[in-house]
Amino acid sequence: MAVLPRDEVSTPSSLAPKYLGNPVVNGFESQAKIPIFILHKRENKMNYDLIVIGGGAAGFFGAIQTAERSPNAKILILEKSQKVLSKVKISGGGRCNVTHSCFDPKEMTAYYPRGNKELRGPFHRFLCGDMMGWLEDNGVETKIEDDGRVFPISNSSQTIIDCFQKNCNKHGIEIKLGNGVTSLSYENELWNIKTKENDFQTTSILLATGSTPSVWNLLKEMGHKIIEPVPSLFTFNIQHHLIKPLPGISVPDANVKILDTKYEDNGPLLITHWGVSGPAILKLSAWAARELNEKDYKFQIEINWLNETEENLRDNLSAIRKASGNRLLRNFQLIYFPKRLWHGMLENLKLMDKNYASLTKQDIDGLINILCKCKFTVNGKSTFKDEFVTCGGIDTKEVNFKTMESKLHPNLFFAGEVLNIDAVTGGFNFQAAWTTSFIAAEEIATQILTH
Ligand SMILES: Cc1cc2nc3c(=O)[nH]c(=O)nc-3n(C[C@H](O)[C@H](O)[C@H](O)COP(=O)(O)OP(=O)(O)OC[C@H]3O[C@@H](n4cnc5c(N)ncnc54)[C@H](O)[C@@H]3O)c2cc1C
Repeated sequence: MAVLPRDEVSTPSSLAPKYLGNPVVNGFESQAKIPIFILHKRENKMNYDLIVIGGGAAGFFGAIQTAERSPNAKILILEKSQKVLSKVKISGGGRCNVTHSCFDPKEMTAYYPRGNKELRGPFHRFLCGDMMGWLEDNGVETKIEDDGRVFPISNSSQTIIDCFQKNCNKHGIEIKLGNGVTSLSYENELWNIKTKENDFQTTSILLATGSTPSVWNLLKEMGHKIIEPVPSLFTFNIQHHLIKPLPGISVPDANVKILDTKYEDNGPLLITHWGVSGPAILKLSAWAARELNEKDYKFQIEINWLNETEENLRDNLSAIRKASGNRLLRNFQLIYFPKRLWHGMLENLKLMDKNYASLTKQDIDGLINILCKCKFTVNGKSTFKDEFVTCGGIDTKEVNFKTMESKLHPNLFFAGEVLNIDAVTGGFNFQAAWTTSFIAAEEIATQILTH
């Protein structure tokens, strides 16, 4: 039997009433300001067809999908905290970027630095359009934004939470809060699950505990290999006089290279108070998550601010020098660019009062370099508040992606971020949770029905 270290065991709440923001009823946040009394007593061993460990995105969707296929199944969700779906609640800045408008399985896998090969088959069975369809069938209308991200039309993550709550009620799925699982053991074709409060028995487990170190330790004791977790989806900290006065300035399509590595990416880039952010940076942080961790987040980047070739810029510059040589650089931009960034570059190069005709070769080289090969030293990372995930988790080689079942233990299924799967920002991380829990649910339901 694998057991969690004592300090990882979740503490039960006292008998005092709880006012945790809005009160929580059966794990769901309620609007009414009433005290909730949560009683904890050890109950006799309870038997289930499926116990889902972890009341997050993957856990809820897996439980509901199983119940839809196997209506008489006895299903329980065990959640260690006093609230379910907390990440869904804060996701996408409170709007929940629930998936992405990508409808081709192969194309979809390109967004996953970890898990791209493994997800190809599963995406053929359940992809973004399927999730949008399921939501619509369950009363949640979605919309696709210009960059492909999909949100509930309400712009509120609560709509998704309400939808899951309604489905749990409809299917009689039980939820127990404050039940952090501390040990798992398998005997006589049944799983025994212990929390500090209770003992449970179940035929199948869907483990969907996200990036929780204590559960990974538990799985390690059970023989599973855990790929060391490191953060993904972060922004780069830079202290530099060029960008320091420019927070809020963005460019639509920059190319960013991490020097001395193979990593480079394109996309919108935003200057922040701490350095640089935006899709180009977040994508790089995901692809290079492990290498940047090894570098202790100290490295150099090179920004091509408009993803423009040096040759094109030199040609443009020659043309302007011929046609409008007497124009001051500060009044006439070489390329379409945020004016404050352009002026910052000119000040940096001491070219504010020069006209195009008077530029020396050194001035021209300086201008081309700052536009195409602008180097910065990155010293540290910051959290991107709209979305972050962990790179690392259960080694995917030990999981059967046709069923999401462990290759080491029978009737132990995995879904979501607990696996060594993660994606760039844009709704892809949730889609991995929906897809893996859907696949697991199909298999679990089949087993329940044939039992
Ligand atoms: C701020 C933020 C914003 C995000 N926004 C987006 C977004 O807009 N779009 C997107 O695609 N992705 C987003 N993500 C990523 C996304 O939230 C995760 O990929 C997703 O929640 C993973 O789902 P999960 O069910 O695997 O894990 P989680 O949602 O983390 O759920 C795991 C649950 O298991 C519980 N648990 C842990 N240990 C135990 C235990 N021992 N016993 C019982 N329960 C346990 C936890 O308390 C938790 O409730 C965001 C992440 C963050 C942090």
